[in-house]
Amino acid sequence: MRIDRFFAPNRPTISFEFFPPKTDEAWKSLYQTIEHLKPLAPTYVSVTYGAGGSTRAKTVELCGKIQQEIGIDTLAHLTCVGHTADEIGQILDQLWDKGVRNVLALRGDPPAGGVWTKTPGGFDHADELVNFVRSKHDFFVACAGFPEGHPQCLNLSRDLEHLKGKVDMGAGAIVTQLFFDNNDFLHFRDNCRRLGINVPIVAGIMPILNVSQIKRFVTMCGAKIPHPLLTKLESLEHDPAAAEAAGIEYAANQCRDLLFHGVDGIHFYTLNKHPATIEIVKQLRVPGRNVAA
Ligand SMILES: Cc1cc2nc3c(=O)[nH]c(=O)nc-3n(C[C@H](O)[C@H](O)[C@H](O)COP(=O)(O)OP(=O)(O)OC[C@H]3O[C@@H](n4cnc5c(N)ncnc54)[C@H](O)[C@@H]3O)c2cc1C
Repeated sequence: MRIDRFFAPNRPTISFEFFPPKTDEAWKSLYQTIEHLKPLAPTYVSVTYGAGGSTRAKTVELCGKIQQEIGIDTLAHLTCVGHTADEIGQILDQLWDKGVRNVLALRGDPPAGGVWTKTPGGFDHADELVNFVRSKHDFFVACAGFPEGHPQCLNLSRDLEHLKGKVDMGAGAIVTQLFFDNNDFLHFRDNCRRLGINVPIVAGIMPILNVSQIKRFVTMCGAKIPHPLLTKLESLEHDPAAAEAAGIEYAANQCRDLLFHGVDGIHFYTLNKHPATIEIVKQLRVPGRNVAA
């Protein structure tokens, strides 16, 4: 099913992100995670697309399995990295044949923090990919947004214009990068609306489960951790259980505030784990599709 039919005012979507793991053990654990999360009735789940190698085919496989066997609508991430348009066309055909109807069209990043270079015969930016995906089959296409600005774009206004370019090309929703200060999200959303970007904007939330891990993530994606939160987490660095509890409490409060401000949807970066997400969603009782029905 295309997921655009689930976006509606005052009916925030709830979604979970997974990544294709590398080992058999981790696959087993991922399927258990999905089974644990399924009763929360997510509107959809998404599956990331790796930087290269065998996990890329696994994305297609996992999307098909979740869609057809587990029965949850799936949003397949797809990037421009290392692909010609023809190759991307073939991946889209495979997704379509597996019943997947939703694509998150992304540029992706160059390997090991290098400089972005377009693959010959491929795409330079996500707006071109959005356009291409829409030209193949009847996919619903979403794109990425960056409440604190994309790390490589030094000018926030220009970044928003590029975001508008993706929406003008047909992206029907924006899923944001993780952020920890809701003011960043709310300003970003206001600026989008001022610029005429009127599609749903889904907030990306990552519950902090491990302090050193989150520090690595924010370095990569350019998000900032508010100073009081960082101080608190650092003081708990030697007590993982307490740090996790603090992370869950922070994310739950963040979500409550976003719902109060009429967010279109909340997307949990689960890192293939279920306990924190379950705890937060239970606290919120977010009206997901089936929860509300
Ligand atoms: C929700 C979400 C999910 C993600 N999932 C994955 C994943 O599964 N796999 C993965 O590898 N990465 C993933 N990423 C990371 C993402 O690929 C990187 O952040 C990447 O650097 C930017 O992708 P984009 O689609 O926003 O690119 P773009 O929209 O192309 O933007 C990239 C940069 O180029 C600029 N730009 C955009 N359009 C133009 C234009 N027409 N002309 C000039 N400049 C332009 C932008 O301002 C920005 O600085 C995800 C990110 C988010 C937020």
